[in-house]
Amino acid sequence: MGAVQIRKGKARPFWFRHPWVFSGAVDRVRGNPGDGDVVDVLDADQSFIGRGLYNARSQIRVRVLTHDADETIDDAFFIARLDRAVALRRDILRLDAQGTDGYRLVHGEGDGLSGVIVDRFRDHFVIQFSALGVKQREGLFLDYLRERFDPASIYENANFPYREAEGIEDEGGVRHGEASNEVAFSENGIDYVTDLEKGQKTGFYFDQRDNRRAVGSLARGARVLDAFCYSGSFALNAIRGGAEQVVGVDSSKKAIALARRHAAMNDADAIEFVDADANAYLRDVADANRTFDVVLLDPPKYAVAKKDQQNAIHRYRELNAAGMRAVEPGGILVTSSCSHHVSNADFEALLNEAAKQAGRFVQFLQCRGQSTDHPVSSACPEGRYLKCFVIRVS
Ligand code: SAH
Repeated sequence: MGAVQIRKGKARPFWFRHPWVFSGAVDRVRGNPGDGDVVDVLDADQSFIGRGLYNARSQIRVRVLTHDADETIDDAFFIARLDRAVALRRDILRLDAQGTDGYRLVHGEGDGLSGVIVDRFRDHFVIQFSALGVKQREGLFLDYLRERFDPASIYENANFPYREAEGIEDEGGVRHGEASNEVAFSENGIDYVTDLEKGQKTGFYFDQRDNRRAVGSLARGARVLDAFCYSGSFALNAIRGGAEQVVGVDSSKKAIALARRHAAMNDADAIEFVDADANAYLRDVADANRTFDVVLLDPPKYAVAKKDQQNAIHRYRELNAAGMRAVEPGGILVTSSCSHHVSNADFEALLNEAAKQAGRFVQFLQCRGQSTDHPVSSACPEGRYLKCFVIRVS
């Protein structure tokens, strides 16, 4: 087996089980491993730290999968990891009992499976490989899904940024069953449909499920604005929670058409969906001196890369100041950011600046994150990306 030796003084994160060995931490590579092969990760004194999958083309030279020198990385290893991921959703989260059969089944590092994402849409599955080593073993993952779930279809989504850098050439496509451009599923007892090939993300933003539930519980009797509503899921949870009036706004015509369809499917025609720029909509609301009891903000990722951070913070601040102005005094703002490069602390600070800008008193009631089917490994805090703050705005 090949081995990757870490530069002297650079091994500390790996002793603490961080799974990504970046090229800068590598001193030398022994034994000429091929891309995707299993390698040992060694400290400068040759002591064993961990074992993972090598890729000379990737900035992440090794994705460490185990720290047990006696553990072999073979099919049985991956199957055990998959079983552990499935058991979390089935036995602990008990998503079925909450009217949810659309959720994330495997969440990469968070499930000890760096580079593998699986989303489930009732009987349909979407798989995404973002690392060459797991892509090379795709048959194992597809067989697992086939055997355990007897799926109607498995679609491979290849829509992620580092594919070429990793050396993954495959364009994605249907891997099992019939291509289906529309699949049905439920979340929090609400029915949806999505297009697995052309929808946003892998088809739905499952990471907001628990936050949608929280919004449902805050919505009784409220006038609610769901800005950046995509296919209407927050708005639908609000109306289920007894909201008096709900408006959803998104700049994508396709998203709004789908949101209207979801409203019809769920007897929620009272929701008004508006195809508009959310910033312009908030300006119009301010000009008309209108307010809402609950305002929801869930914009797209403003900081895609580290270099976008300052600009993103500025945009979040402006947006949140506008959102706060739209809240009836004493009402609630539920504000999200899915940018890795804007931390919890950054988000708290910019919300305080937004409060000052809007001239409002703001109380943090809940600092929420991604839903429980998107677990975060204690060794890889980068896995925590979604922030969702529930704030009272007086
Ligand atoms: N809240 C949604 C997810 C939102 S994703 C959910 O829970 O499913 C971000 C959304 O913002 C996308 O649907 C995108 O179409 C929309 N969007 C991007 N820029 C926008 C803008 N300037 N105004 C309104 N919507 C915008």
